[in-house]
Amino acid sequence: MGAFLSPFSWFILVCIGIVLMIIAYMLFTFKPKKTVSRSYRQKGKPGAPGVCPICCTVLGKGEQLKTKVYPSEGTDRLCSIYGCPHCYPVEESGTNRFCPVCKASVAPESYLIARLFDRSKTNKHVRILGCKQCRNG
Ligand SMILES: [Zn+2]
Ligand SMILES: [Zn+2]
Repeated sequence: MGAFLSPFSWFILVCIGIVLMIIAYMLFTFKPKKTVSRSYRQKGKPGAPGVCPICCTVLGKGEQLKTKVYPSEGTDRLCSIYGCPHCYPVEESGTNRFCPVCKASVAPESYLIARLFDRSKTNKHVRILGCKQCRNG
C-alpha cells in the first residue's frame, strides 16, 4: 500500500473524470441551445400562411393548427380553429390568445371561426371570421 492507489480508487477517479467531462460537454452544448429556446418565438401577422391566427406565433416545420372542419357540399367550408401547439391546449408563457377580429382574449376552451376556401389545389385560403363571442354577437 502507501503511495499506490488501489484499483478501486483509480476506478472512482476515472468515474469523476468522466462525469466532469460530461458536465463540461453539456455546458458547452447547452449554452447556444438555451439562448435559442429562450428568445421569444417569432410573431407574425394573424391570417398570414404559417402563422397561428390566435397567438400569432410563426409555426415551425411540422407544427400544425388544431382545426375542425365542418363537412359541407360546397367549396367553402366553415372550420373552427382551436390554436397551434404553442397556445393549445396549454398556453406557453409569452403567448397571448386573442381574436384578430375583435381583439378580445380567446379562452383555451374557445376557438375562432373561419371560412375555408378550397376552390382548387392551388387556391386554398382561410379567412378568419371571428371568435365564438363576436360571431354570436
Ligand atoms: Zn397559437
Ligand atoms: Zn372576436
